[in-house]
Amino acid sequence: MHNYKREISILYVENEKDIMESYAKELQKVSQNLFTADNGEEGLKLYKKHKPDIIISDMNGLEMTKAIKEIDENANVIFTTTNNESAYLLEAIKLHVEGYLLKPVEKKLLLKIVKKLSRTIILEKENKEQRELLQYIIDSENSITIITNTTNISFASKSFLSFFGASTIQEFKQKFPILLDIFSNSDDLINKFSITQSMKNNIDFYEFIHNIDESSRVVTLKNIDNEEKSLYINISKINDLNYLINFTDITKLTQEKEATELKLYQDSLTGINNREKFEEVIYYELKQSKRYNRSLSLAILDIDKFKDFNDTYGHLIGDEVLIMLSEEIQKHTRESDLFARWGGEEFVLLFSNTNLQNAMNLAENFRQIIEKLKHKSAGSVTVSFGLTEYKKGDTLKSMFKRADDALYEAKNSGRNCIRSIS
Ligand code: GH3
Ligand code: MG
Ligand code: MG
Repeated sequence: MHNYKREISILYVENEKDIMESYAKELQKVSQNLFTADNGEEGLKLYKKHKPDIIISDMNGLEMTKAIKEIDENANVIFTTTNNESAYLLEAIKLHVEGYLLKPVEKKLLLKIVKKLSRTIILEKENKEQRELLQYIIDSENSITIITNTTNISFASKSFLSFFGASTIQEFKQKFPILLDIFSNSDDLINKFSITQSMKNNIDFYEFIHNIDESSRVVTLKNIDNEEKSLYINISKINDLNYLINFTDITKLTQEKEATELKLYQDSLTGINNREKFEEVIYYELKQSKRYNRSLSLAILDIDKFKDFNDTYGHLIGDEVLIMLSEEIQKHTRESDLFARWGGEEFVLLFSNTNLQNAMNLAENFRQIIEKLKHKSAGSVTVSFGLTEYKKGDTLKSMFKRADDALYEAKNSGRNCIRSIS
């Protein structure tokens, strides 16, 4: 049980001295913080100084009450009035006060009303305190957090709001009337769940993210500065109505991971794909070709007489030529194909969904491009090509063997040419 005597403060305005004294004594029973005034002007001063929870006033305090309501429209005011003051009463009613008591006021009734009001005020204070506490907790550690009851956001951390450039939940709602719109940059996610823009109106945000598989809860969102950020979504159910949704910014981690992966698959001299990347892709492509009966062609490229070239111009110039040649071939490689350095002066081209005849044409194009390419001091090199296409039952090894045999034929046929084995 609450001790409102200590918690609740009252301002009592009454111009008749003996009434004032007798009621003040009663009111002290319910509040240790009682302020009294015999006129409105004095009352207003006390109000401004102490911000009492309850104001009890006779009609002399009408102007004071108007002023108080201007300061706080939710101020709790009880008027005491006599029968002949009906004109004042009408004005008082317009001010939305908490109650009117006819003089002479029954003391018991006054106390009952004050106690009831006190209980409400204390509950509101507690509620406010709890909200502040909760807000404090979700603002801690700068977490990007919301608490939602499935239709509304009831709490949003400062970091969440500032991520989207809003200062209040209302402002955020104006920007994103449909909560799913925060994912508008995450086409991946939207596609994954077969959601179209027009469907977004009818899909419950919470239902939606709740159904995202734990492992794919990383989404890309654009913040207020239009920077793409990777966020991991964590959802916990507080009770039947409320969810706590936490977004962890993992942008830096993601970037580092991508950079590491890139290095893992990158040839250090030329910057193009390395052998590891090629092997990963060809395993995948072989599976696809087998399953969907798709064609797939492979070319091995080997620079002609590169040992002699190195001996003539030096290893450093040789390196420059490897880089130049790689960049040029990469530039002309189709998006769906893969170009990689196998090692040394040997490269591979994987033509996805392409039969041998078309691959031969593409290779011929590359052969001519390379032939025309000139290093500023050392001139040009030529390349021999060995090609093959996927056959039922092929493995990387069997396919590679045929392409290598074809390359051997090209070398034996005078180099700077293309040979194939089907
Ligand atoms: P062929 O026409 O028969 O292929 O003759 P080739 O000289 O190119 O063949 P071989 O396999 O005998 O020699 C390959 C040469 O490629 C040897 C090596 O000096 C050169 N080479 C391999 N890797 C690199 C590299 O990273 N940088 C440089 N500059 N040269 C390299
Ligand atoms: Mg070689
Ligand atoms: Mg060679």
